[in-house]
Amino acid sequence: MDSHKDVLERLRTAFRSGLTLPEEFRRAQITQLMSMIRENEDSIMKALHQDLSKPKFESALSEVDIVINELHHAISNISTWMQPEYVTKNLATKLDDCFVRREPLGVVLIIGPWNYPLQLLILPLVGAIAAGNCAVIKPSEISAATESLVAELIPKYLHQDCYAVVRGGSEQTKALLQNRFDHIFYTGSQAVARSVVQAASVHLTPVTLELGGKCPCLIYGRINIQAAAHRLAWAKFFNMGQSCVAPDYVLCTEATRDALVPALSAVLEKFYGKELQKSPDLSRIVSDRHYNRLKKLLDRTKGKVVIGGESDQEDKYIAPTVVVDVAEDDALMGEEIFGPILPIITLEKLEESIEFVNRTEKPLAIYVFSDESFVVKTVMEKTTSGGFCSNDGIVHMTLPGLPFGGVGASGWGSYHGRWGFEQFSHRRSCMLRGWALERLNGLRYPPYTEDKLKW
Ligand code: NAD
Repeated sequence: MDSHKDVLERLRTAFRSGLTLPEEFRRAQITQLMSMIRENEDSIMKALHQDLSKPKFESALSEVDIVINELHHAISNISTWMQPEYVTKNLATKLDDCFVRREPLGVVLIIGPWNYPLQLLILPLVGAIAAGNCAVIKPSEISAATESLVAELIPKYLHQDCYAVVRGGSEQTKALLQNRFDHIFYTGSQAVARSVVQAASVHLTPVTLELGGKCPCLIYGRINIQAAAHRLAWAKFFNMGQSCVAPDYVLCTEATRDALVPALSAVLEKFYGKELQKSPDLSRIVSDRHYNRLKKLLDRTKGKVVIGGESDQEDKYIAPTVVVDVAEDDALMGEEIFGPILPIITLEKLEESIEFVNRTEKPLAIYVFSDESFVVKTVMEKTTSGGFCSNDGIVHMTLPGLPFGGVGASGWGSYHGRWGFEQFSHRRSCMLRGWALERLNGLRYPPYTEDKLKW
């Protein structure tokens, strides 16, 4: 196996040779990624099932289709993205060519998490390739089957001098991070993000952070409770709640809670049957560490479990669970839940809920459920978050036209579609001048006479 140094040397040499610059090369690599996904769909599904017991449908939707969609989007748009952007000129630059040129950053590092282990590696990679970079890809060691598959497939499909997979856990990643990269794109927890930023600061390497946090779902005003329960349950329990954009907790009035809880209970039975643990449509908790973390949260909550609450360590199963009477300082509110537990906090006024959300770190997403556009608009205007979606959850991140990313503690930078291309590009200001208008230019040369000031 090549050392980190050897890998980086190989990629840097390829980058310096200009191999990744032509549009045809970028397009060809993106097309290869498309073949990689299409020709290995079964193995991908199997690996995802091995790692997280992901239902086939969820894997298709959130890992395969979303990647294929992004690849198509990049292939259709790369030409436009690469065009220089001409800017407005003034009198002194009238004869010049003034434009912004998108240039690749160089050799970039992409570190992925385990919850969507394919999507969250390949989507940033599409942006990196489209922008003309070489890339080192570091999958999460926790989703080991997908990690192995990615390590096997990438060198088969992509140019080996330009793209490499490096494997390993936290120690190996720390060692990898000691090297100089031209950009680091990190998806994962806030805690690890701090050490990534620290390592990056040694080389002053710019960093994109795709992090998590607690995404609230505010339910106020008139509401279609049946539709709300379906969409909320789907967004929360998809991938067993292990989604960075899953609704983390609900804020609503007591009356809404009293209507919502039975509706959620009925929806869960409809989705997963009476014996939820036997449903093939529920994933599992990824590891014993995360199972124990979630179990501890359930043990420590002072709220009342009204749906679910069962768990089975052997099976890494925690039932979709709803907890009411949750206080602001409850254990469930102290960290991102990242699992199938949904606390409901009751506050009678929308304004109180908005203040509640604004006391927390800026979330990755805010959801508002309401039939009333005034409620939606008020929440949108009086809060901030990476993304915002009314009357649904998660789906806003499936559109390549919308930038996906956090703000503040939920992340730095964004990607998907053009935004990924931009994230991995340097916007170079270019002014191409000739020797014309030298008399006009003479006005700025010393000596700075009084006449020149008047002009
Ligand atoms: P994690 O931070 O434990 O691991 C992510 C990656 O970091 C892995 O590749 C891992 O090997 C590496 N890593 C672990 N320890 C490290 C260290 N000390 N130094 C350097 N690298 C290290 O995150 P996770 O548990 O895999 O993912 C869960 C978190 O990620 C949640 O907070 C979730 O909200 C967030 N997330 C965010 C997004 C997003 O797009 N914003 C998507 C998915 C997950």
